[in-house]
Amino acid sequence: MKTPEADRSALADATLSLHAGAGSRQSGAPVNASPAFSTNYYTDPDAVGFSANDLTADAPHFYTRWGNPTLDLLESRLAALERGEAAISFASGMAAVSSLFLQTLRAGDHLVLANICYAGVAELANDILPGYGIEVTRVDATRPEAIAAAMRPTTRLVHVETPANPILTLVDIPAVARIAHDGGAELSVDSTIGTPVATKPILLGADYVVHSLSKYLCGHGDALGGAVIGRAESLSRLRKQNLIHLGGCLAPFSAWLILRGMETLAPRMALHEANARRVEAYLAEHPRVRSVYWPGSPRHPQHDLAVRQMRNFSGLLSFNVKDGQGPSTARRLADRLRVFAYAVSLGKAKSLIFYIPTDDLLRSSFRLEGAAARAYRDWSAEGIFRVSVGLEDADDLIADLDAALG
Ligand SMILES: *Cc1c(COP(=O)(O)O)cnc(C)c1O
Repeated sequence: MKTPEADRSALADATLSLHAGAGSRQSGAPVNASPAFSTNYYTDPDAVGFSANDLTADAPHFYTRWGNPTLDLLESRLAALERGEAAISFASGMAAVSSLFLQTLRAGDHLVLANICYAGVAELANDILPGYGIEVTRVDATRPEAIAAAMRPTTRLVHVETPANPILTLVDIPAVARIAHDGGAELSVDSTIGTPVATKPILLGADYVVHSLSKYLCGHGDALGGAVIGRAESLSRLRKQNLIHLGGCLAPFSAWLILRGMETLAPRMALHEANARRVEAYLAEHPRVRSVYWPGSPRHPQHDLAVRQMRNFSGLLSFNVKDGQGPSTARRLADRLRVFAYAVSLGKAKSLIFYIPTDDLLRSSFRLEGAAARAYRDWSAEGIFRVSVGLEDADDLIADLDAALG
């Protein structure tokens, strides 16, 4: 629940990913100090008040939905990596986002949401929040002035994603943080694609960082999880009022898998980036390809911002093909790829690729119209191929794409 180390920012990400939160080592202690504590209950429950409202930061464990030693370790490590005061883990990235929204927004409040973000978040904001009396304005978050124009006296939260899934547009975090704070609102940043190795949104002014742990942090595609990182006081309220009562807690065994994956986060991200650089350069030259987007390339329209704000450009890229060839190319790739898997999701050690048709996404998730729909279409054409470049040999990945693209 809390981050014990005094001066954790002195250590680099590669070290923190292995050691943060593990505490001091007594002689004879196991070096792997992170077992999966598969227990629902703890002895001496009388030491804790029976209501979640009485939970204090130093209370002993009571019930695993409230807290658990494996989750504590994961939360300390995430807080250390993000330079936040505290972290809370959730059952999935969506559980983390929905909990944060329901915690910070009440009937009559206003949310400013990036109009390009994870489809599930867009659908939550479009379909569910208005039913609770929460007003939502979706804006082009690549333009801070569009966020400024959307602010209202009732705006409580600005939520953005950078890089944004699936087209990898970027948001200027310090600029947007200033606008949110000037308007009396808080800023949350979904940093799933960048990971803390690329960007530390809290150091850039964000109030909350949100992660789907299911992606790069876990890294192996074998556990779902989510997290919110931020100030201890707001997170203590989020834990008591939301995690405990809405109940989206992470399973200790999933936390153990995610901790295991996080041990190699920094070197994995370096290799994801190096492989993505090679694949991007290959795709950019391919005659079927219209555009390719990867923040690390000078070809990315926001490359300057990427250089300012990211210390690693991640392994996710997207590309589109010449007009009319999207669906047939998707079919060829699904049929012919042998190293890449044609599958959803991202951030796994193994390479993944998936085609997202623009009309479908605009209709089912983003519901953009007019200029916003045109802007998305300019970027994505008739559909975008989202490529999660894995840790295989880069030459093998390129040969696989080359054989399949023809
Ligand atoms: C996958 C993803 C989510 C949702 O996370 P789950 O763990 O699948 O619930 C949220 N944001 C981004 C950017 C994602 O890629």
